[in-house]
Amino acid sequence: MLGFPTNSLKSIKNKLLRQQKEVEENIKEVEEDDPATTPSLAEPSEPGTDSYIAETHTRTVAIKEQLKKISGNIKTALGKIRKGTYGRCEKCGRQIELGRLLAMPTAQYCLADSKKISK
Ligand SMILES: [Zn+2]
Repeated sequence: MLGFPTNSLKSIKNKLLRQQKEVEENIKEVEEDDPATTPSLAEPSEPGTDSYIAETHTRTVAIKEQLKKISGNIKTALGKIRKGTYGRCEKCGRQIELGRLLAMPTAQYCLADSKKISK
């Protein structure tokens, strides 16, 4: 078992649950804003409307993909909390710095490894 202060783990879990709710609401909002899924807007009435819809749709899909990825990371982190493996670096297996986890609860790597990976 990792040497995690129970209170920190609790606040991380709450943060994750809050983030998950936010992300899911954002996904919904983004879907509602997508003109391609809004029938009244999807009818090309003027020249140029088509490309506007296509562009906005492409952007919406990209944002949604990103939000879904975040949501997936949050789910993974919550699953790890349940299993008691939360906070372990996926690369070296050491405990991720607590400050790092508090700032970024979905962090999967320790600071040193995340630096190596992002290079
Ligand atoms: Zn590591």
